[in-house]
Amino acid sequence: MAELPMLCKPQLPTELLRDIVFEYVFTFDEGRKREVPRHSSKPPWSLLEPLTLASKVLRQLTFEAWFEIYYVHSPDDLLTAWPELGLWTKELHCVELGTDLQILPVHWNLRAFHRLRKLRIDFDPMMSNTMLLMRFDYPKHIASNIRELEIYDTSWPSPLTIRLVVDAFSGLRTLKLSQDLIWCSLCNICCFSTFRDHPPKEIAYDKTVGLPGHYATYMRSLTNLQEVVLTISYGLGGNFSLSEGNANLWTGECDACMDMMYAEEDFRKDWVEKKTQTVRPPSLRSVKWRFRHKDVGDVIHLVDADEGEEVEVVETYTDE
Ligand SMILES: [Zn+2]
Repeated sequence: MAELPMLCKPQLPTELLRDIVFEYVFTFDEGRKREVPRHSSKPPWSLLEPLTLASKVLRQLTFEAWFEIYYVHSPDDLLTAWPELGLWTKELHCVELGTDLQILPVHWNLRAFHRLRKLRIDFDPMMSNTMLLMRFDYPKHIASNIRELEIYDTSWPSPLTIRLVVDAFSGLRTLKLSQDLIWCSLCNICCFSTFRDHPPKEIAYDKTVGLPGHYATYMRSLTNLQEVVLTISYGLGGNFSLSEGNANLWTGECDACMDMMYAEEDFRKDWVEKKTQTVRPPSLRSVKWRFRHKDVGDVIHLVDADEGEEVEVVETYTDE
């Protein structure tokens, strides 16, 4: 741990001590791997514990900083939380490993968390889990005050998922989804994307909506939504490239659809034109697509997005 000799001097005002402690906790890089699903991004407690022994004031401040993000594995963790967490916790990081097939009539009860501004949900990528989102909207007045929602590994990122999000979290300003698949608005199937070569790390849209059409339609009722970040996995071996510009305003279309349907130039032009005219959610400023490479063996994720019924799932790819 870095030395913090100043912290023990009583003449420092508590406000300054608070800034120092929070700066120490939240700029700690080694433990803050924020994009690793199902892992806490907080630094190890062992690195903070000495602060709690230095003085009564530092102990209080360290707990406040530590519990600003509350990392939990079970709805029971919320029910047994200290009362002080209602004031300290601004972000809940929930790991939900259940499946739609065994959905329990139990909510992740947010009642105690009056200052909650961000909710992060990490699902199990091997489970069908979309309907589990309905466990996170209680009570409504807390859920609707959440400003940022981040979801990892929703099994089927179809418009149904977006509708569940919109219904539960009406006050969102930022929405981040990160999973292997994307919903193709040409064939209405959740797909694993493949490209001819590596896409850029990020594609950003600020002039056009940059979302699959039905996503944009559902999100219009999120009147405060300013930013959407969609992170997907991709493999190589496809026919289309995003590395040399984005003339087709790609928004998740699968390689098979682009290969078949874009061959008809009139259709392609009409489709792209339609994207330029898609109505944006009223406050939306930017949509970003981010990409992470995966080696693909045989990957088939098929789902009827309209019915939400799984048709076939075969997964044999491995992380890069
Ligand atoms: Zn498609």
